[in-house]
Amino acid sequence: MNHIRTVGVIGAGTMGSAMAQKFAQEGFNVILNDRTKDFVERGLATIRATLEEGVEKKIFTKQQAEEYLSNLRGTDSPVDLKECDLVVEAIFEDFTAKVDLFRSISEIVSPDCIIATNTSSFSITELANSVSFPERFIGLHFFYHAAKNRLVEIIPGKKTSAKTIEAIRIFSFFAGKDAIDCRDSYGFAVNRFFVPWLNEAARLFGERVASIAEIDFVCMKIFGIGMGPFPLMNATGLPVAYHAEKTLEVFGKLYETAEMLKIQAESGKKWDIGSMAIDKVDPQIEKMISDRMLGIVFFVCAQILEEKVTSPTHLNRGAKIGLQWKEGPIDLMNQAGNAEVNRLVTQVAEIYGMKIPSTLGEEFREIELVRLETKYPFATITMDQPEHLNALSEKMVEELSRKFNDADTDPYVATIFITGSGKAFVAGADIKFFVKNIQAHQIGNIELFSSHGHKVFRRIDHSAKKVVAIINGLTLGGGLELALCADMILALPGAQFAFPETGIGIYPGLGGTQRCADRIGKGLSKYLIHTGKMLSAGEAEEIGLIDKVISVDEGMEIMSGNQPLPAITHKVLPEKWQHIKDFFEKNSLVEILGKTFADQSLTNEEADKIVKTISYKAPVAIRLADKLIDGGKGCGSELDYMNEIFSTSDALLGLTSIGKKVQYQGK
Ligand code: NAD
Repeated sequence: MNHIRTVGVIGAGTMGSAMAQKFAQEGFNVILNDRTKDFVERGLATIRATLEEGVEKKIFTKQQAEEYLSNLRGTDSPVDLKECDLVVEAIFEDFTAKVDLFRSISEIVSPDCIIATNTSSFSITELANSVSFPERFIGLHFFYHAAKNRLVEIIPGKKTSAKTIEAIRIFSFFAGKDAIDCRDSYGFAVNRFFVPWLNEAARLFGERVASIAEIDFVCMKIFGIGMGPFPLMNATGLPVAYHAEKTLEVFGKLYETAEMLKIQAESGKKWDIGSMAIDKVDPQIEKMISDRMLGIVFFVCAQILEEKVTSPTHLNRGAKIGLQWKEGPIDLMNQAGNAEVNRLVTQVAEIYGMKIPSTLGEEFREIELVRLETKYPFATITMDQPEHLNALSEKMVEELSRKFNDADTDPYVATIFITGSGKAFVAGADIKFFVKNIQAHQIGNIELFSSHGHKVFRRIDHSAKKVVAIINGLTLGGGLELALCADMILALPGAQFAFPETGIGIYPGLGGTQRCADRIGKGLSKYLIHTGKMLSAGEAEEIGLIDKVISVDEGMEIMSGNQPLPAITHKVLPEKWQHIKDFFEKNSLVEILGKTFADQSLTNEEADKIVKTISYKAPVAIRLADKLIDGGKGCGSELDYMNEIFSTSDALLGLTSIGKKVQYQGK
């Protein structure tokens, strides 16, 4: 297993500079290389400007931006890349230039170094022939803007080793990327359907089926996007779409470049999108546009599945994360249903004289929500719905149950890691499910969901295997309750923890009130649950909510099985937290809310601040959470008040007003 600590990026242009920025932000040592000092300086200046913009927008602090920059250095000397564990190439899209570069670089890098290419159109296997170690060569296709767009496609060549694939998967995870696996095929997964989608828009315009404004309007509506295909092509460059479509022509007539796209791209001008936005389209025209645009996506995506370019899960993710489509192709196909998918695909097949893919049935569109990977004696369970911040839905809990069971009953597995993909470990439960059932007066379904969740979490808690939660990001509500079932909780420095439930009208109902108290005591549990306080990873470690903050390096080593689990030492609770703990342990809820404190552990100012925070939360939720923590009757006791809490009007108000300020009524 390669340990990736130092990453080289070759080509400090649009993509290379953004990648270098992202890797540096995530704590890797980064060396950015270009042909001359001027090009290197231009790349570094772009990074500085983007970071400054981030500071202005308060995405990170000035100090953080400086820290990121300190992880980065530029060089015009390729020899400096010899210390890299991974080199990612992002030079011009020119086959000979890339091959020449790989040949010279392979003479420089260490015998363990992995070389990755960000090519958009060349075969990874063919590029790999230029190095003497194709087993350490792989495709890593990022999306614009590579520091902001989280999607990356991982594309092994024919000879890429399993070890390299694993190292790159782990690297992508710790580099804050949402990776999808693709086969080495033109356009990989996302461009394979996205570029024909752009092409079809140009074709519809060329055929005079509709105007640019009408096509944009309908596409924005059906794909849930903020920009239609024409302004999108204007923004990313028409030649890019034109050349990308040309490389896809090998797949048949449907992929032939639209005459209109060719003319426009060769003219060097952008599409004339006008300035007037429209707010409706003639229904007949709308139907024609919708049929053709959906038809193309459905046809190509069915081909992608037939050719096993990627899985339905990853195909959907590619659209949602990489292209920011509200609904992925698989969602759209599932919503349309089999009959409509058949109709649209058949229509496309007839227009272009192409064979209908065999993978139209819904059985080919199963989405995997939880991933299980085993590398004995380790099993890793990844909550894998980054497009929904891994929120616990009914299906997700069900899948977690099955996958955990598989790992738990596997005699060769000794340690089970639980982690999340994307920005969150698990950002709570599926709120839509709660709202739907409250509105339908079917709170029994919420009780069933909760009691099933309790069963699954109990199984994790009581497993004879060592269960380790590796917390990668946002850990809210149900996510924290899941983490609390682990024997050990390790978190990356950027992780955050909170119980936001009482702020949305409910209480933690998947063991949170009990397991949290078992870990950090009743006083601090009440503080967290009653105030909804968001803790940083460092604060969570201080109070013992988690066992240890680990670096990205340690995380990679532990999950790869290269490093044993860290020793956990008992820590003394810092004074600041001890006062809060005492305050909640020695004052009853009535005393706290009435400000008649029997115990003066906190200053009046500190106590007032806490009382004010609690006063914004739902009173019934606070009362029940307090009672559950005090009662300490075990996780099952949380089910006793499920009906009561979800029947309150405050629960409905809170759950339908996420992110907004609301005035709770206490009923
Ligand atoms: P770019 O033209 O902005 O940057 C390329 C950089 O590579 C330039 O700074 C150039 O000086 C440098 N370079 C060229 N030859 C070099 C060499 N031998 N050694 C060191 N540096 C060298 O290009 P880009 O848009 O960043 O694209 C780079 C790669 O990423 C291409 O393969 C492209 O297909 C792929 N890609 C681009 C996008 C996108 O949206 N731009 C998206 C995904 C993938």
